[in-house]
Amino acid sequence: MKIAIIGAGFGGMAAAWDLKKAGHDVTIFESADYVGGLASGFKEPHWDWSVEKFYHHWFQSDGEMLGLIRELGLEDKVIFPRPYTVMLHNGKWHPFDSILHALLFPGLGFGLNKIRFGFVGLFLRLTKNWRGLEKVTAHEWMMKYAGRQVYEQMWQPLLIGKFASYYKDVNMAWLWARMHARTTRLGTFEGGFQKFADVFAEKLREMGVGIRLGAGIKSINQDQASRSLSVDGESFDKVLVTTSPNLMAKLCPELPENYLKGLLELKSMGAVVMTLSLKHQLSKEKYYWFNVPKEEGYPFLALVEHTNFVSSEHFGGDHIVYAGDYLEVGHEYFSLTDEHLLERFIPAFQKFNPEFSREWIKKIWVHKTNYAQPVPLVGHSKNIPAIQTPIEGLYFASMSQVYPWDRGTNFAVEIGRRAARMMVKD
Ligand SMILES: Cc1cc2nc3c(=O)[nH]c(=O)nc-3n(C[C@H](O)[C@H](O)[C@H](O)COP(=O)(O)OP(=O)(O)OC[C@H]3O[C@@H](n4cnc5c(N)ncnc54)[C@H](O)[C@@H]3O)c2cc1C
Repeated sequence: MKIAIIGAGFGGMAAAWDLKKAGHDVTIFESADYVGGLASGFKEPHWDWSVEKFYHHWFQSDGEMLGLIRELGLEDKVIFPRPYTVMLHNGKWHPFDSILHALLFPGLGFGLNKIRFGFVGLFLRLTKNWRGLEKVTAHEWMMKYAGRQVYEQMWQPLLIGKFASYYKDVNMAWLWARMHARTTRLGTFEGGFQKFADVFAEKLREMGVGIRLGAGIKSINQDQASRSLSVDGESFDKVLVTTSPNLMAKLCPELPENYLKGLLELKSMGAVVMTLSLKHQLSKEKYYWFNVPKEEGYPFLALVEHTNFVSSEHFGGDHIVYAGDYLEVGHEYFSLTDEHLLERFIPAFQKFNPEFSREWIKKIWVHKTNYAQPVPLVGHSKNIPAIQTPIEGLYFASMSQVYPWDRGTNFAVEIGRRAARMMVKD
């Protein structure tokens, strides 16, 4: 079969790997002039490693991704350093990267709250019944079972941070999935995610997969006579699209109305992330990930000192810091200039280190995406678009369909490979 894949993110590349191995003629079309999609990175000339545009790491439970990396023979390039995650309480940062730390977190209070927190955590780790949990919001479920204080200290800041005005609408299966599919140990690829994407793309090219960069596809149409699909005029037997649901709807307006409606009704959050290279280390305590509750008035949700995760030696001695937020599309951060955004952020950096001054900043980069985090509402499983669309030969695999799991490169690989299996079988 002659197959087109739209998008060279990890979903598209994983699908191409399997489809090519199954003997098909595969071409990937990618609108950017690089591979890696949302997990791509960038590099200064004096850096040995790239940094991701949007902070990225793997969990030890990312079996699909780690399995693929093994198949590619690259497992010796994956590292799992031991970074520190902290959470704010009463103006002080507290360790927050193990169950024990969570139980010792002062915001939990004493006695009963700790027991409720422990039991709720245990129940969520043990139960497999996410379908029952998707019938209720995380807000209602946690208020009922964990209690107000535990919810407001531990879970509400996460929900507000990720989902802003939707935070009371997100279903409990989302929190369940996070507790099931995440570990406190965090991993990355030697050289950065972009390095991994480039090596993967090179292996695909060596196998004979065509990767056309700078090839933004405008339309996919059915050719009734030849029973094939036309991708900007080029004919294919099967096509897999890995873009956002909105883009999918624009690319394929011939899709039946109810499938299009399903795509367009899916909600998601965007993200704005500033990366700074600094002359000095920001966190003297060497903390990697600062969870910043929005109600504390910080202008961003997370501050991540990447070079407290991997050494600044890989970046010519620069210290790399991310400040990022999940935002509704249309939020003013999407239209602010990089300099104006920096003006908003600068006062907050001093809260992480009072010695911080503007002179520390060598360079900033701001990356924005409208499609960063799908929003799963109550009963969400019935809203997931089918991978096999109603158009024969046309398939769709995106972050919005990995539910109940939260989006991530691990699940991009899983759904890309699942789509490839369906394409071969059908
Ligand atoms: C802020 C943030 C933090 C994240 N943190 C993590 C993390 O720590 N760990 C983790 O594993 N994951 C993380 N993720 C999620 C991860 O990046 C995604 O789940 C994953 O990269 C999705 O891969 P994909 O292939 O499905 O889609 P994408 O990576 O979005 O790939 C789709 C590709 O399609 C291309 N495309 C779009 N339109 C067209 C067109 N018309 N023609 C041709 N090509 C087109 C795009 O350029 C893109 O390259 C994070 C995401 C964000 C936004």
